[in-house]
Amino acid sequence: MTEATGTGARLARLRERLDALDVDALLVSAPSNRRWLSGFTGSAGVLVVDARRARIATDGRYHEQAQRQSPEFELVPAPLRSVASFVAPLLDGLGGARLGFEPGGLTVAEHMEWVGAIEGLPAGDRPRLVPAPGAVEPLRAIKDAAEVEALTVAVYLGDEVWAHAASCLRDGVTEREVAWEAQRHAYEHGADGMAFETIIAAGPNGAMAHHRPSDAAIAAGQPVVMDLGVIVGGYRSDLTRTVCVGEPDEAFPRVYDAVLAAQEMAEERIEAGMTGGQAHAIAATVLAEAGYGDRFTHGLGHGVGLDIHEAPRLSADSEDLLADGQVVTVEPGVYIPGWGGVRIEDQCVMEDGRLRVISRAAKLDLEVGGGS
Ligand code: ZN
Ligand code: ZN
Repeated sequence: MTEATGTGARLARLRERLDALDVDALLVSAPSNRRWLSGFTGSAGVLVVDARRARIATDGRYHEQAQRQSPEFELVPAPLRSVASFVAPLLDGLGGARLGFEPGGLTVAEHMEWVGAIEGLPAGDRPRLVPAPGAVEPLRAIKDAAEVEALTVAVYLGDEVWAHAASCLRDGVTEREVAWEAQRHAYEHGADGMAFETIIAAGPNGAMAHHRPSDAAIAAGQPVVMDLGVIVGGYRSDLTRTVCVGEPDEAFPRVYDAVLAAQEMAEERIEAGMTGGQAHAIAATVLAEAGYGDRFTHGLGHGVGLDIHEAPRLSADSEDLLADGQVVTVEPGVYIPGWGGVRIEDQCVMEDGRLRVISRAAKLDLEVGGGS
């Protein structure tokens, strides 16, 4: 059943890891991990994977879908919502085993329910529930060819959505109107959803890295931070461009050039084998030399895949190792309270030890639209 790519290979990679995690089996409940391992795209269900078997428990709405999407998994019908209703067949054969759970994948209430349901099993059939943090995420950080392709489709659509949104910029339009135009264009051109809440932040609003679009009218001369992404086939894009409506003030080209130089240096010099912290330092050094050291207030980037923020982290304190197959953003920014911000973000894939930029959205034009 194991293929070169796809869920067979992913299961094999997880099984190789069970020993290192000090567990005999893993209960997978975090939605993106569940989907990545099994291919199952339904909204409810859990997986149990051990060295021999892979099982999926889900309710009646999803039986047919799970069988179709997850042929490597044995279906365990979950007749009721309660864990007690399906725990016996799901954990059959795991008496005495160490069963890892994902601390980030269960609420405290759900964990209590699992503990209670396991206690309800005959003594000899009870596994021991132990935390297994970070079991699947490091595997997901390395994308296979199909995932890189899926991400590329999302990135290219995101690029188009940005171009459309940028074409809507003019003196007097509101942040909210531009954000809506971006979303409308995305859905009309094949997006299943937005990868995160679209950020359109004009003038001083751009000094807040995660500003929500407001009814503020965009005025000529203001820098506008546009950060948006789409979901296609479950995979996400993430792109930021900063533009100016009409004539920029004299600070803008200076800040923009520094941020662009930091990004270009990072994209050129980041290599497999570096830590996320070392990658961050490349851009941080360029910005510090330009006098903006204390204005770069977030990490340089992050992994992107089924989730918008996943491993590895590229930030000052990150020990995550960069490696081929990772898809990461490179997004330096400078934020000046009262004036605004400049952030430029590309999505890149690590190939043959170096970053290849996937994003194609234009960067060089400092002016888009133009007030009149
Ligand atoms: Zn972004
Ligand atoms: Zn990002």
